[in-house]
Amino acid sequence: MADINRNLVVNVLRTCPVMSRADLSRATGLSGPTVSSIVADLTSRGLVQDLGQGLSSGGRPPFLVRLNDKANYVIGLKLMGHAISLVVTDLSATVMYAQVTPLVGPAAAMPDQKARPPVPRDPGSIIDAVCAAIDTAVSSSGVDVGRLIGVGVGINGTVDATTGTCRLSPTFNWKNVPLARPISDRLGHPVILENDANTLAAAEQWFGRGAGVDTFIAVAVGAGIGSGVVVNGQLYRGTDGAAGEFGHVQLSDTGPLCSCGRVGCVEAWASDRAILRDIHAAIDEGRETSLGRVGNTGELTIAQVAAAAEHGDELSRQVLSQAGHYLGRGIATLMTVINPRLVIISGEGVEAGHWRFDPMMRAIESSVFPDINAEIIFAPEPLDDTRWARGAACVVLGEIFNTPTQPSLVDARLG
Ligand SMILES: [Zn+2]
Repeated sequence: MADINRNLVVNVLRTCPVMSRADLSRATGLSGPTVSSIVADLTSRGLVQDLGQGLSSGGRPPFLVRLNDKANYVIGLKLMGHAISLVVTDLSATVMYAQVTPLVGPAAAMPDQKARPPVPRDPGSIIDAVCAAIDTAVSSSGVDVGRLIGVGVGINGTVDATTGTCRLSPTFNWKNVPLARPISDRLGHPVILENDANTLAAAEQWFGRGAGVDTFIAVAVGAGIGSGVVVNGQLYRGTDGAAGEFGHVQLSDTGPLCSCGRVGCVEAWASDRAILRDIHAAIDEGRETSLGRVGNTGELTIAQVAAAAEHGDELSRQVLSQAGHYLGRGIATLMTVINPRLVIISGEGVEAGHWRFDPMMRAIESSVFPDINAEIIFAPEPLDDTRWARGAACVVLGEIFNTPTQPSLVDARLG
């Protein structure tokens, strides 16, 4: 109970720059003496700063305190096929330091997260690279290693965050590879492994458009399609860590082959990959298109397809429209199941613009359960790797600031 009360106080302080002890008591529902005792304990450990008496508004002057968000640090990293993007943040998820470390070896030639290497990458060498990147970050950033309370690792694929096992990784061609424990054993710090779409949702929750929204979905549209789901303020992972994988909802019994090995999935109809595949196929069949004059069609990009559509290219308009329609069908399914307040759409696929997303919006409107009214917004800025890494740090922060009514994935204490 003491831990629950303490985390309750820390969590309330996190949301407010400065608070009086009386307000803290009201916000947590804890008695004045209990709050004072917890604040004294947190202050003695440097976690809370006592600001003394504030100005009175009539009665006794308030005793003001604030969270010392520089008291501890977390590390977040995005593990990609070709590089490791890493950030060190404070307890407010403010980035103190960032670095990108190239991954040497065969993965260097596989920048595409969805491209599957012909043989599984050696987990030992990847774990070595992650630990080396963290060591470099700790020494280069100058943070006190004793104040580092956890590391979050985001990876594309299916992840069992409870055991820290990567259940399936297309990027590294892995099945059931334990990652969190070996890294944690080497570093001596808690490590959380998380699906990258979930780190994106954590980023939106902590410093993005999902801040203060109890239930929302962060959709990532790019070479693949996935989402992170936050329900009642908590990341929802599902039993096997595969919650939010709506890119693999099958919309048809027949249709294009998906990266999961089945046919007719949302991703197989609607991803950037699907768009480029359909454009290439049409060009091969001799369809008239201005994209034929782009030159090497092997280097065709979504931005080029969007620009061609804008300039009247019928093929580009048709393919973007079809992809948008199926994306909308998939998102409508997800919305009907989750009933979110907000859906945030981001990823490099956003640059396809209205020729893709107007049909998506129409498909959502026509196929979502009519009682559901979620706001749908687009994140126009590109998703850089630092944002994903910062999201992985937020996953750790989310565990730390959870009121521990259920076991935390981070066996660590602040201070
Ligand atoms: Zn699939």
